Amino acid sequence: MTTENAASIFKVDESLCIGCGLCIDACPMKILEIQDGLCIMTDPEKCLECGTCERGCPEKAITIVVGAGAKAKAKLKTGTAGATESARAKFYPILDELTEMIQVASPKQIFTFEGQDITSLHNFEIDNEPSYYRAYTADKIDKLGISSSLFFGIMTADVLVLTPSKEYDIPYFIMDWDESEEHIFFICDLMPADDPGRNSDYLNKYYYEPLEELYMNYIMSIPGLKSSVFHWVRAIHSPYIITGSVEKTKENIEMLANCARDYLKAWIEMWKKAEPQDPNSPYMKLVHERRKNIRELYKENDPGAGSLNKYLGKEMGATAISFIEP
Ligand code: SF4
Ligand code: SF4
Repeated sequence: MTTENAASIFKVDESLCIGCGLCIDACPMKILEIQDGLCIMTDPEKCLECGTCERGCPEKAITIVVGAGAKAKAKLKTGTAGATESARAKFYPILDELTEMIQVASPKQIFTFEGQDITSLHNFEIDNEPSYYRAYTADKIDKLGISSSLFFGIMTADVLVLTPSKEYDIPYFIMDWDESEEHIFFICDLMPADDPGRNSDYLNKYYYEPLEELYMNYIMSIPGLKSSVFHWVRAIHSPYIITGSVEKTKENIEMLANCARDYLKAWIEMWKKAEPQDPNSPYMKLVHERRKNIRELYKENDPGAGSLNKYLGKEMGATAISFIEP
């Protein structure tokens, strides 16, 4: 038997659900509950359709029907969003800090992406609160994607991704900071463009030397960092990834922000030193093959896609998510 609730967005197969509650921890909006041993959704309006609960359920009991509950739509506009007092002020301005650091690369904003006009994504509103998806290019950088979504004034999803140009083998920089009123889910990594297990020079140059000390410091000093990241993320990210959910305390915010700043600083040093390589060399062909696989894995699995489709529509949602995927 299948329980459908929340306007058919959310279906739980009663014969599979064991009431373990893992989906409750995974849901960024905290709208799932166990009642009579079964998972239910308490506030469908707030469901982002991100699919995190579906992917995190060990029993494969959940189905999220994307689009079934969508009432809220983003208001796309070109003016300055956030003119009114915004709920954004209560969240940590991590993107402002990282955006300031990356000015060293003199990024240039682009307004057309893969043939589509993206001006409206520069500022838009979800439920009258400001959000943005912005794309830039820079020297040695194919794509610098910066995005911040503010959902219902109770959660932000802030992302910064740096994708190197095809002549460079340096890692990608990725930071995802999803902050609710009680928790922060965090991913920070320099994602390898070559397999560090195959290429020990790559491991030493881009990971062991610049990151070992930082990694040991942060992994040991962020208490309660509960790693719940997807298997496909673990498969393509580096051994130096810092990720997990933590309680939102002043100390934790400080640690995570320091981690993001230090990892970006390390990436900027790599970017400064990076020398172009022949994109047709056997080595760079391997790098491109891996980059292609990474892109495909993200396209198939990224949970952010569901919420963007819900608020921006399928076409614009697909464009917006591709700014902030490698
Ligand atoms: S994670 Fe799956 S099995 Fe566990 S409570 Fe949620 S729906 Fe049920
Ligand atoms: S789809 Fe996302 S927001 Fe909706 S219930 Fe599942 S985890 Fe929560």
